[in-house]
Amino acid sequence: MSITAVMPTYARTDVAFEKGEGSYLTDSTGRRYLDFGTGIATAGIGHCHPHLAEAIAKQAATLMHCSNLYNIPGQQKMADRLVAATFADSVFFGNSGAEANECAIKMARRYQHVSGHPERYRVITFENCFHGRTLATIAATGAEKVLQGFGPKVDGFDHVPFGDLKATEGAISNETAAIMVEAVQGEGGFFVAPDGFLEGLRKLCDKHGLLLIADEIQTGMGRTGTFLAFEQFGVKPDIATLGKSIGGGFPTAACIATAEAAKGMTAGTHGSTYGGNPLAMAAANATMDVVLEAGFMDHVQAMSKRLRAGVEAIRDRNDSLIELVRGKGLMIGLKTRVPNGEIVNKLRDAGMLTVPAGDNVVRLLPPMTVSEAEIDEALAIIEKICVEDGS
Ligand code: PLP
Repeated sequence: MSITAVMPTYARTDVAFEKGEGSYLTDSTGRRYLDFGTGIATAGIGHCHPHLAEAIAKQAATLMHCSNLYNIPGQQKMADRLVAATFADSVFFGNSGAEANECAIKMARRYQHVSGHPERYRVITFENCFHGRTLATIAATGAEKVLQGFGPKVDGFDHVPFGDLKATEGAISNETAAIMVEAVQGEGGFFVAPDGFLEGLRKLCDKHGLLLIADEIQTGMGRTGTFLAFEQFGVKPDIATLGKSIGGGFPTAACIATAEAAKGMTAGTHGSTYGGNPLAMAAANATMDVVLEAGFMDHVQAMSKRLRAGVEAIRDRNDSLIELVRGKGLMIGLKTRVPNGEIVNKLRDAGMLTVPAGDNVVRLLPPMTVSEAEIDEALAIIEKICVEDGS
Protein backbone atom coordinates (compact mmCIF):
# COMPACT_ATOMS: atom_id res chain seq x y z
CA MET A 1 0.00 0.00 0.00
CA SER A 2 1.60 3.28 -1.03
CA ILE A 3 0.85 6.65 0.43
CA THR A 4 2.23 10.12 -0.11
CA ALA A 5 4.82 11.29 2.40
CA VAL A 6 2.49 14.12 3.37
CA MET A 7 -0.60 12.33 4.64
CA PRO A 8 -3.26 12.83 1.96
CA THR A 9 -5.97 14.35 4.19
CA TYR A 10 -6.39 17.43 1.99
CA ALA A 11 -7.70 17.76 -1.55
CA ARG A 12 -4.99 20.20 -2.59
CA THR A 13 -4.81 22.50 -5.58
CA ASP A 14 -1.57 22.06 -7.49
CA VAL A 15 -0.06 25.46 -6.68
CA ALA A 16 2.74 26.28 -4.24
CA PHE A 17 3.08 29.80 -2.91
CA GLU A 18 6.49 31.22 -2.18
CA LYS A 19 5.85 34.79 -1.21
CA GLY A 20 3.13 36.87 0.37
CA GLU A 21 2.83 40.63 0.36
CA GLY A 22 -0.30 42.41 1.61
CA SER A 23 -3.23 41.20 -0.51
CA TYR A 24 -1.05 39.24 -2.95
CA LEU A 25 0.58 35.82 -3.10
CA THR A 26 3.22 34.76 -5.61
CA ASP A 27 3.56 31.11 -6.62
CA SER A 28 6.66 29.07 -7.46
CA THR A 29 6.38 29.98 -11.14
CA GLY A 30 6.37 33.69 -10.34
CA ARG A 31 2.64 34.16 -10.96
CA ARG A 32 0.95 36.72 -8.71
CA TYR A 33 -2.54 36.22 -7.31
CA LEU A 34 -4.93 38.59 -5.57
CA ASP A 35 -5.68 36.72 -2.35
CA PHE A 36 -9.35 36.93 -1.33
CA GLY A 37 -9.06 33.74 0.71
CA THR A 38 -6.29 34.76 3.16
CA GLY A 39 -5.64 31.12 4.07
CA ILE A 40 -9.29 30.88 5.16
CA ALA A 41 -9.58 34.17 7.02
CA THR A 42 -6.19 33.87 8.70
CA ALA A 43 -3.79 36.38 7.13
CA GLY A 44 -6.22 38.98 8.46
CA ILE A 45 -3.88 41.97 8.26
CA GLY A 46 -2.44 40.85 4.92
CA HIS A 47 0.54 38.68 4.15
CA CYS A 48 3.81 39.47 5.89
CA HIS A 49 2.59 42.76 7.34
CA PRO A 50 5.91 44.55 8.07
CA HIS A 51 5.00 45.24 11.72
CA LEU A 52 4.04 41.59 12.30
CA ALA A 53 7.05 40.19 10.44
CA GLU A 54 9.39 42.45 12.38
CA ALA A 55 7.85 41.54 15.76
CA ILE A 56 8.13 37.81 15.01
CA ALA A 57 11.74 38.12 13.79
CA LYS A 58 12.73 40.15 16.84
CA GLN A 59 11.09 37.76 19.28
CA ALA A 60 12.48 34.71 17.46
CA ALA A 61 15.97 36.07 18.01
CA THR A 62 15.25 36.83 21.68
CA LEU A 63 13.14 34.02 23.20
CA MET A 64 10.72 31.71 21.42
CA HIS A 65 9.58 29.44 24.20
CA CYS A 66 9.94 29.04 27.93
CA SER A 67 6.78 27.17 29.16
CA ASN A 68 3.70 28.17 31.08
CA LEU A 69 5.59 27.13 34.19
CA TYR A 70 6.76 30.75 34.20
CA ASN A 71 5.28 34.22 33.74
CA ILE A 72 5.05 35.29 30.10
CA PRO A 73 4.78 39.09 29.85
CA GLY A 74 3.53 39.01 26.25
CA GLN A 75 0.65 36.78 27.38
CA GLN A 76 -0.23 39.22 30.14
CA LYS A 77 -0.18 42.09 27.64
CA MET A 78 -2.34 40.28 25.07
CA ALA A 79 -4.80 39.09 27.74
CA ASP A 80 -5.14 42.64 29.12
CA ARG A 81 -5.86 43.91 25.62
CA LEU A 82 -8.45 41.20 24.87
CA VAL A 83 -10.13 41.91 28.20
CA ALA A 84 -10.17 45.65 27.45
CA ALA A 85 -11.56 45.07 23.93
CA THR A 86 -14.35 42.60 24.81
CA PHE A 87 -16.90 41.37 27.37
CA ALA A 88 -14.26 39.02 28.84
CA ASP A 89 -12.34 39.10 32.11
CA SER A 90 -9.87 36.29 31.50
CA VAL A 91 -8.08 34.53 28.63
CA PHE A 92 -6.61 31.07 27.97
CA PHE A 93 -4.20 30.84 25.04
CA GLY A 94 -4.00 27.82 22.76
CA ASN A 95 -2.60 27.07 19.31
CA SER A 96 -5.60 26.42 17.08
CA GLY A 97 -9.28 27.11 16.82
CA ALA A 98 -10.24 23.56 17.72
CA GLU A 99 -8.16 23.81 20.89
CA ALA A 100 -9.82 27.10 21.82
CA ASN A 101 -13.20 25.39 21.39
CA GLU A 102 -12.06 22.40 23.46
CA CYS A 103 -11.18 24.87 26.20
CA ALA A 104 -14.63 26.49 25.90
CA ILE A 105 -16.40 23.12 26.12
CA LYS A 106 -14.29 22.03 29.08
CA MET A 107 -14.88 25.38 30.77
CA ALA A 108 -18.66 25.07 30.36
CA ARG A 109 -18.62 21.59 31.92
CA ARG A 110 -16.33 22.73 34.70
CA TYR A 111 -18.52 25.78 35.36
CA GLN A 112 -21.54 23.58 35.86
CA HIS A 113 -19.49 21.17 37.97
CA VAL A 114 -18.30 23.86 40.39
CA SER A 115 -21.78 25.42 40.38
CA GLY A 116 -23.22 22.22 41.87
CA HIS A 117 -24.52 20.79 38.58
CA PRO A 118 -22.10 18.04 37.55
CA GLU A 119 -24.97 16.44 35.64
CA ARG A 120 -24.95 19.35 33.15
CA TYR A 121 -22.40 18.45 30.50
CA ARG A 122 -24.19 18.65 27.16
CA VAL A 123 -23.71 21.46 24.63
CA ILE A 124 -26.27 22.49 22.04
CA THR A 125 -24.80 23.33 18.64
CA PHE A 126 -26.40 24.13 15.28
CA GLU A 127 -26.85 22.39 11.97
CA ASN A 128 -24.33 23.58 9.41
CA CYS A 129 -21.87 24.73 12.09
CA PHE A 130 -18.14 24.05 12.16
CA HIS A 131 -16.13 23.93 15.36
CA GLY A 132 -12.96 21.99 14.48
CA ARG A 133 -11.40 18.58 13.87
CA THR A 134 -10.60 17.16 17.31
CA LEU A 135 -12.78 14.32 18.60
CA ALA A 136 -14.94 16.66 20.70
CA THR A 137 -15.17 19.39 18.09
CA ILE A 138 -16.21 16.99 15.30
CA ALA A 139 -18.96 15.81 17.66
CA ALA A 140 -19.85 19.47 18.24
CA THR A 141 -19.90 20.03 14.47
CA GLY A 142 -22.10 16.99 14.10
CA ALA A 143 -21.97 16.60 10.30
CA GLU A 144 -21.72 13.03 9.05
CA LYS A 145 -18.86 13.97 6.68
CA VAL A 146 -16.53 14.92 9.54
CA LEU A 147 -17.64 12.10 11.86
CA GLN A 148 -17.61 9.15 9.48
CA GLY A 149 -15.23 6.43 10.57
CA PHE A 150 -14.17 8.22 13.74
CA GLY A 151 -16.68 6.64 16.09
CA PRO A 152 -17.72 6.29 18.77
CA LYS A 153 -18.77 9.91 18.69
CA VAL A 154 -17.87 11.94 21.78
CA ASP A 155 -21.04 12.18 23.82
CA GLY A 156 -22.56 15.46 24.87
CA PHE A 157 -23.66 17.40 21.80
CA ASP A 158 -27.20 18.07 20.59
CA HIS A 159 -27.90 19.68 17.23
CA VAL A 160 -30.77 21.91 16.24
CA PRO A 161 -31.50 24.02 13.15
CA PHE A 162 -29.62 27.34 13.05
CA GLY A 163 -31.98 30.21 13.77
CA ASP A 164 -34.64 28.07 15.44
CA LEU A 165 -35.17 29.29 19.01
CA LYS A 166 -38.12 26.97 19.62
CA ALA A 167 -36.08 23.90 18.66
CA THR A 168 -33.21 25.18 20.81
CA GLU A 169 -35.42 25.51 23.86
CA GLY A 170 -36.90 22.09 23.10
CA ALA A 171 -33.40 20.57 23.11
CA ILE A 172 -32.51 21.96 26.55
CA SER A 173 -32.59 19.25 29.20
CA ASN A 174 -31.44 19.09 32.80
CA GLU A 175 -28.12 17.82 31.39
CA THR A 176 -27.46 20.89 29.20
CA ALA A 177 -24.44 23.00 30.16
CA ALA A 178 -24.09 25.47 27.28
CA ILE A 179 -25.06 26.62 23.80
CA MET A 180 -22.26 27.15 21.25
CA VAL A 181 -22.88 29.23 18.13
CA GLU A 182 -21.23 31.16 15.29
CA ALA A 183 -22.73 34.61 14.61
CA VAL A 184 -21.96 33.99 10.93
CA GLN A 185 -21.53 30.33 10.06
CA GLY A 186 -18.18 30.24 8.27
CA GLU A 187 -17.56 26.81 6.80
CA GLY A 188 -21.33 26.32 6.55
CA GLY A 189 -21.63 29.02 3.87
CA PHE A 190 -21.83 32.45 5.52
CA PHE A 191 -25.29 32.11 7.00
CA VAL A 192 -25.78 35.15 9.25
CA ALA A 193 -27.67 34.63 12.54
CA PRO A 194 -31.22 35.83 11.86
CA ASP A 195 -32.55 38.89 13.71
CA GLY A 196 -33.23 38.17 17.36
CA PHE A 197 -31.64 34.72 17.31
CA LEU A 198 -28.50 35.44 19.35
CA GLU A 199 -30.54 37.63 21.69
CA GLY A 200 -32.98 34.76 22.10
CA LEU A 201 -30.13 32.35 22.86
CA ARG A 202 -28.84 34.77 25.52
CA LYS A 203 -32.29 34.79 27.13
CA LEU A 204 -32.54 31.00 27.00
CA CYS A 205 -29.10 30.68 28.63
CA ASP A 206 -30.08 33.11 31.38
CA LYS A 207 -33.40 31.36 31.95
CA HIS A 208 -31.91 27.85 32.16
CA GLY A 209 -28.54 28.55 33.82
CA LEU A 210 -26.48 27.79 30.68
CA LEU A 211 -23.37 29.42 29.28
CA LEU A 212 -23.44 31.04 25.85
CA ILE A 213 -20.30 30.26 23.84
CA ALA A 214 -19.54 32.39 20.76
CA ASP A 215 -17.28 30.66 18.25
CA GLU A 216 -15.61 33.78 16.80
CA ILE A 217 -12.69 31.89 15.28
CA GLN A 218 -13.57 32.99 11.74
CA THR A 219 -15.65 36.09 12.58
CA GLY A 220 -13.47 37.64 15.30
CA MET A 221 -10.56 40.12 15.31
CA GLY A 222 -12.53 42.63 13.23
CA ARG A 223 -13.46 40.39 10.29
CA THR A 224 -17.12 41.52 10.35
CA GLY A 225 -16.33 45.18 11.07
CA THR A 226 -16.41 45.02 14.88
CA PHE A 227 -13.86 43.29 17.10
CA LEU A 228 -16.33 40.46 17.76
CA ALA A 229 -19.26 39.80 15.43
CA PHE A 230 -21.50 39.34 18.48
CA GLU A 231 -21.19 43.08 19.23
CA GLN A 232 -23.31 43.85 16.18
CA PHE A 233 -26.13 41.75 17.57
CA GLY A 234 -25.98 43.54 20.93
CA VAL A 235 -25.31 40.25 22.72
CA LYS A 236 -22.63 39.39 25.26
CA PRO A 237 -21.63 35.74 25.40
CA ASP A 238 -20.08 34.15 28.50
CA ILE A 239 -17.23 32.58 26.53
CA ALA A 240 -15.83 33.30 23.06
CA THR A 241 -13.12 31.63 21.02
CA LEU A 242 -10.65 33.35 18.71
CA GLY A 243 -8.24 31.78 16.23
CA LYS A 244 -7.25 32.33 12.60
CA SER A 245 -6.58 36.12 12.36
CA ILE A 246 -5.46 36.49 15.98
CA GLY A 247 -1.85 35.66 15.07
CA GLY A 248 -2.06 37.07 11.54
CA GLY A 249 -0.91 33.69 10.20
CA PHE A 250 1.16 32.57 13.17
CA PRO A 251 -0.61 29.60 14.83
CA THR A 252 -2.28 30.87 17.97
CA ALA A 253 -5.75 31.01 19.48
CA ALA A 254 -7.59 32.19 22.57
CA CYS A 255 -10.57 31.27 24.68
CA ILE A 256 -11.89 34.37 26.44
CA ALA A 257 -14.47 34.31 29.24
CA THR A 258 -16.18 36.22 32.00
CA ALA A 259 -14.89 35.72 35.55
CA GLU A 260 -18.08 33.80 36.35
CA ALA A 261 -17.78 31.40 33.40
CA ALA A 262 -14.09 30.79 34.13
CA LYS A 263 -14.51 30.32 37.87
CA GLY A 264 -13.71 26.60 37.68
CA MET A 265 -10.52 27.04 35.64
CA THR A 266 -8.06 26.87 38.51
CA ALA A 267 -4.38 25.82 38.43
CA GLY A 268 -3.94 22.36 36.98
CA THR A 269 -7.39 22.11 35.33
CA HIS A 270 -6.20 22.92 31.79
CA GLY A 271 -2.98 23.59 29.96
CA SER A 272 -0.91 23.61 26.78
CA THR A 273 2.81 23.32 26.11
CA TYR A 274 2.97 25.93 23.35
CA GLY A 275 -0.16 27.94 24.16
CA GLY A 276 0.66 31.63 24.52
CA ASN A 277 4.42 31.20 24.23
CA PRO A 278 6.56 34.32 23.76
CA LEU A 279 6.78 33.91 19.97
CA ALA A 280 3.02 33.39 19.54
CA MET A 281 2.31 36.37 21.78
CA ALA A 282 4.69 38.60 19.83
CA ALA A 283 2.65 37.72 16.72
CA ALA A 284 -0.69 38.22 18.48
CA ASN A 285 0.32 41.54 20.05
CA ALA A 286 1.67 42.85 16.75
CA THR A 287 -1.58 41.84 15.02
CA MET A 288 -3.53 43.49 17.83
CA ASP A 289 -1.51 46.72 17.34
CA VAL A 290 -2.82 46.87 13.79
CA VAL A 291 -6.40 45.80 14.53
CA LEU A 292 -6.74 48.33 17.38
CA GLU A 293 -5.37 51.24 15.31
CA ALA A 294 -7.81 54.16 15.09
CA GLY A 295 -9.92 53.80 11.95
CA PHE A 296 -9.24 50.07 11.40
CA MET A 297 -12.86 48.96 11.93
CA ASP A 298 -14.10 51.91 9.84
CA HIS A 299 -11.83 50.71 7.06
CA VAL A 300 -13.20 47.13 7.30
CA GLN A 301 -16.75 48.47 7.19
CA ALA A 302 -16.03 50.76 4.23
CA MET A 303 -14.28 47.98 2.27
CA SER A 304 -17.13 45.60 3.09
CA LYS A 305 -19.65 48.10 1.73
CA ARG A 306 -17.68 48.57 -1.47
CA LEU A 307 -17.14 44.85 -2.06
CA ARG A 308 -20.71 43.94 -1.21
CA ALA A 309 -22.21 46.64 -3.47
CA GLY A 310 -19.88 45.52 -6.26
CA VAL A 311 -20.71 41.81 -6.04
CA GLU A 312 -24.41 42.55 -5.70
CA ALA A 313 -24.28 44.58 -8.92
CA ILE A 314 -22.42 41.70 -10.62
CA ARG A 315 -25.04 39.27 -9.32
CA ASP A 316 -27.80 41.47 -10.80
CA ARG A 317 -26.09 41.34 -14.18
CA ASN A 318 -25.28 37.61 -13.94
CA ASP A 319 -28.06 36.01 -11.97
CA SER A 320 -27.92 32.83 -14.01
CA LEU A 321 -24.49 32.23 -12.46
CA ILE A 322 -24.72 33.90 -9.04
CA GLU A 323 -27.89 33.16 -7.13
CA LEU A 324 -27.34 35.38 -4.11
CA VAL A 325 -24.86 37.27 -1.99
CA ARG A 326 -24.75 36.99 1.79
CA GLY A 327 -22.45 37.45 4.76
CA LYS A 328 -21.23 40.24 7.01
CA GLY A 329 -18.27 42.60 6.95
CA LEU A 330 -15.42 41.09 4.97
CA MET A 331 -17.02 37.65 4.98
CA ILE A 332 -18.94 37.83 1.74
CA GLY A 333 -20.34 34.72 0.13
CA LEU A 334 -21.54 34.17 -3.42
CA LYS A 335 -23.98 31.30 -3.71
CA THR A 336 -23.47 30.08 -7.24
CA ARG A 337 -25.76 28.16 -9.57
CA VAL A 338 -22.89 26.04 -10.92
CA PRO A 339 -20.69 24.01 -8.54
CA ASN A 340 -18.79 26.53 -6.39
CA GLY A 341 -15.50 24.67 -7.01
CA GLU A 342 -15.77 25.55 -10.73
CA ILE A 343 -15.99 29.25 -9.89
CA VAL A 344 -13.12 29.01 -7.40
CA ASN A 345 -11.00 27.36 -10.14
CA LYS A 346 -11.95 29.94 -12.78
CA LEU A 347 -11.17 32.80 -10.43
CA ARG A 348 -7.82 31.22 -9.61
CA ASP A 349 -7.03 30.77 -13.29
CA ALA A 350 -7.88 34.46 -13.70
CA GLY A 351 -5.48 35.39 -10.88
CA MET A 352 -7.70 35.57 -7.79
CA LEU A 353 -7.90 33.22 -4.80
CA THR A 354 -11.16 32.45 -3.01
CA VAL A 355 -12.40 29.58 -0.83
CA PRO A 356 -15.38 27.27 -1.29
CA ALA A 357 -17.82 26.73 1.60
CA GLY A 358 -20.99 24.80 2.32
CA ASP A 359 -24.29 25.48 0.52
CA ASN A 360 -22.41 25.97 -2.76
CA VAL A 361 -20.90 29.26 -1.65
CA VAL A 362 -17.69 30.92 -2.85
CA ARG A 363 -16.17 32.79 0.08
CA LEU A 364 -14.57 36.21 -0.39
CA LEU A 365 -12.26 36.78 2.58
CA PRO A 366 -9.83 39.55 1.63
CA PRO A 367 -7.31 40.82 4.15
CA MET A 368 -8.93 43.40 6.41
CA THR A 369 -6.23 45.80 5.18
CA VAL A 370 -7.46 45.43 1.57
CA SER A 371 -7.49 48.67 -0.45
CA GLU A 372 -10.23 50.15 -2.64
CA ALA A 373 -8.10 49.50 -5.72
CA GLU A 374 -7.70 45.82 -4.76
CA ILE A 375 -11.44 45.46 -4.27
CA ASP A 376 -12.01 47.01 -7.68
CA GLU A 377 -9.45 44.59 -9.14
CA ALA A 378 -11.31 41.66 -7.54
CA LEU A 379 -14.66 42.90 -8.88
CA ALA A 380 -13.19 43.18 -12.38
CA ILE A 381 -11.93 39.57 -12.19
CA ILE A 382 -15.29 38.26 -10.93
CA GLU A 383 -17.12 40.17 -13.67
CA LYS A 384 -14.68 38.82 -16.27
CA ILE A 385 -15.26 35.18 -15.37
CA CYS A 386 -19.03 35.75 -15.32
CA VAL A 387 -18.91 37.22 -18.82
CA GLU A 388 -16.65 34.40 -20.06
CA ASP A 389 -19.14 31.95 -18.65
CA GLY A 390 -21.58 33.43 -21.13
CA SER A 391 -24.28 34.24 -18.60
N1 PLP B 1 -14.44 27.24 14.45
C1 PLP B 1 -14.67 27.91 13.32
C2 PLP B 1 -15.86 28.80 13.22
C3 PLP B 1 -13.81 27.74 12.23
O1 PLP B 1 -14.06 28.39 11.08
C4 PLP B 1 -12.70 26.87 12.35
C5 PLP B 1 -11.80 26.63 11.20
O2 PLP B 1 -12.16 26.77 10.07
C6 PLP B 1 -12.49 26.22 13.57
C7 PLP B 1 -13.38 26.43 14.59
C8 PLP B 1 -11.31 25.30 13.75
O3 PLP B 1 -10.13 26.03 13.77
P1 PLP B 1 -8.71 25.28 13.54
O4 PLP B 1 -8.72 24.75 12.15
O5 PLP B 1 -7.70 26.36 13.78
O6 PLP B 1 -8.63 24.20 14.56
